This record gives sequence, C-alpha cells and structure tokens, in this order.
Amino acid sequence: MKRNKKSIYEPGKPQISRRHMTLNAYENAMRQFDQAVEVLGLKPNQVAMIRDPRKVIILTLPVRMDDGRIEVFTGYRVQHSIVRGPAKGGVRFHPDVTLDEVKALAFWMTMKCAVVDIPFGGGKGGVVVDPYKLSLGELERLSRRYFASLADDIGPDQDVPAPDVNTNAQIMAWFMDTYCMHFKRHLPAVVTGKPLEIGGSAGRDIATAQGVVFCLEEAAKCLSFELKACSVAVQGFGNAGSNAAKLLADKGARIIGISDVTGSYISENGIDVMDAIEWARGHNKLLTGYEKHAKVKKIEDPKAVLELDVDILIPAALENQITGENADRIKAKVIAEAANGPCTPDADEVLNKKGIFIIPDILCNAGGVTVSYFEWVQNRMGFYWTLDEVTSHLKRFMTNAFQAVYNASKEYKVPMRVAAFIVAIKRLTAAAELRGLYA
Ligand code: GLU
Repeated sequence: MKRNKKSIYEPGKPQISRRHMTLNAYENAMRQFDQAVEVLGLKPNQVAMIRDPRKVIILTLPVRMDDGRIEVFTGYRVQHSIVRGPAKGGVRFHPDVTLDEVKALAFWMTMKCAVVDIPFGGGKGGVVVDPYKLSLGELERLSRRYFASLADDIGPDQDVPAPDVNTNAQIMAWFMDTYCMHFKRHLPAVVTGKPLEIGGSAGRDIATAQGVVFCLEEAAKCLSFELKACSVAVQGFGNAGSNAAKLLADKGARIIGISDVTGSYISENGIDVMDAIEWARGHNKLLTGYEKHAKVKKIEDPKAVLELDVDILIPAALENQITGENADRIKAKVIAEAANGPCTPDADEVLNKKGIFIIPDILCNAGGVTVSYFEWVQNRMGFYWTLDEVTSHLKRFMTNAFQAVYNASKEYKVPMRVAAFIVAIKRLTAAAELRGLYA
C-alpha cells in the first residue's frame, strides 16, 4: 500500500468544514474514517471492503410484561466486519438507540479490534428500551427474546456479543443460557462479559477502565507528566467511568469532578471515589443526592463536568458529548476517551487546534474487548487464568497498541485519532488482500 505524502493535519488550521456539522454518529464515524483513507490514499475497492457493514439485522421483539400485556420492542445487530475474525461487540439497552448509532458503534468495534490486534472483526447490538423501567422478569424475557431471535447469526465463530451501556454480566448469563438451550450444547464462548461462575474472565469487570489507565500511563511517559500529580474529571459513572476514577485515585490522582444523568458533582479537594461508588450502589446505580452526603458541589447540568479546569478529562458516557458547540470551553490537557464516540469531528478540529492530546476511543477503551478476547480464549481452552495473568496480558496489548498509534501519529504527522484509524485500516486491508477480497 502506497502512502499518500500529503498530510491532512496542519496544527492551527481547521481540518473540517463546518458545513458538515452533525450529531449523527454514523456520519461522524465515516468522516473519521475518510480522513485516514485520505492520508493513506486507498483505492475505492479497498475502501468498500472495510467501510460498509456486512450485515444489518433488525428485530421485532414481542415481550410479555408483568401486567399481562405484550409490548413490542425493536432490536438491532450490525456485523460490520468479519475480515480479521468473528464479529465482536457489545449490546446496549437504551431508549435513544438508533440503527445509525449501532452501525457507527459496530464500525468502531472493527477498528478497535484491529488497533489492539486481536483476531476479531466488529459488531454491535442495541435494543430501544429504558431498562430502568422494566422489572427483573421483564428484563430477562426481553434479553432472552433478543438472543433467541439472533441465534442463527451469532456463535463463537460468527459473532460474539458482550456488555455495553446498561447491560451487564447477568444479562450475558441469560444470553448464554438461551443460546445453549437452542443448540443443546455448552457454548460459553458465544458471549463475553459473563459472571465468573459460568465462564467469565477474571478482570473483565474493570478491563475497560484498566485499559484507559494503561493508555494514560503510556501518554504520561511520552508527554512527560506524572499521573499522581494530575487532576481528573470523569463524565459518566457507570462501569468504565467509576472504575477509571477509582484506579486513577489509587495511583494518587485527584478526582475533582464526576457526573451521571443526575448532574455534575465537584470538589476541588478531591472526591472520595470509593464513597461515591458505594453511594451509587445504594441509589439504583445513580449519584442522586450525593451532594447531601459528601462535601461536593452539585451542578444540575451533567455536561458541566466536561468544562472543569483539569489535567485529564475522561468522557465515559455516550457519543457526541464534546461537539463544535462546547469544544472551545474544554480546558483539559489530555482527553482519554473511555466512551465510544464522545468527541465529534467538529470538536476534534477545535481540540486539535488547542493542542489537547486525545487518546481516541478505538485505542483508549479497547481494554474491555481485549479481556473479552481473553475470556473467549479461556472458554475455548477450558482453562482459566488468574487476575495477575489477565492484567499482565492486557498491559502488553494496550502498551503495544498505544505505541503503534503514537508512532503512526509521528510518522504521518497526524493527531492520535487519525493515527489509530491508520493502524487499524492497514491491518484490515492487509487481511482483506491476503484473503483475496480485492481484484
Ligand atoms: N462494549 C464494549 C466496547 O464498546 C466491549 C465490547 C466487547 O467486549 O466485545 O468496546
């Protein structure tokens, strides 16, 4: 593959026309992809093989509710790529799920698996539902109906789902059980993120956060700063956000802002993260009323946390949080994207101009899928690793991926996001070419 000498990145110059400003995650994902394609100068058929999803599944899911009614939900599964291995990626339960969002997330999974060099393609699933409004029984019936409807298209060698926003180990257990009942076999490798008791992996619960911290440690080495001297703000207090805050606090960093849908909670002296986690545990996983319990100031706007004057900002919620509208007010020096797609291309343009170092999602949050890979390997071997073994393998994968992306950013003179896409696209096009997918 020939490198196109022309660099699209010139610090201080706007990269993207404001004409295209959009909050459609799929359009934004394609804009990110096209930037890297332009740098690499790919041929049209090379682009076609890795740009579009291979399969899009739309499901109608009738579920019996506790009051006897049948409610009909919509579900999606997008298999973006199987060029480097089975499709891989989580399933989210959220009222705002759209097909375009799932397509974007599936595409990012393909890129993510290629960046960390694990033998998977990319996929994603979603159900349009607010799971907080369902009883446990309703949630179980919906989960089982979703997985049963997908049974022919998923499997350890086809497509391997996992947790994502608002799904957890219990839901993965229901997924696995439904699949095993259908095929009358014990096939735990059909899904990852399972409870330990039925073939989950040690360390999978904190893997995304652990990967974020390994990336930040590498960034600290490259940019010469010390994590223990850093102030940190974390947007989103779910699995990734709360664990990242905890691991960084354990390393001596000061967590001065956290947030969730209920608002932003701020303390210049530092928040006791374990105390906040305990509080959320007792309040339906939310920080509701935390300002009455701890010495923190509450701001109603959950996005206020993004604009704090901190060294490190960790968006760990949903897509499109930092946009062309608020990017100029971001004060952090480093952004570590624990969420998928938190910065739009319009935001990137502004953030790059400001010299903010972004560790992009497809690198930064890849710890989750990397330990999912370890779980899949352990399920297939039938032999399980200790937490120390998982953590040391994860460190190796994350460090290698960070270095590959950092080196590409230097070689091509592009920001880290474009560099991450370059690393991924080169691996994908090499695999597609070897498999004979190009004329
Ligand atoms: N949902 C996670 C992600 O976006 C994990 C996916 C997986 O483990 O397959 O990376």
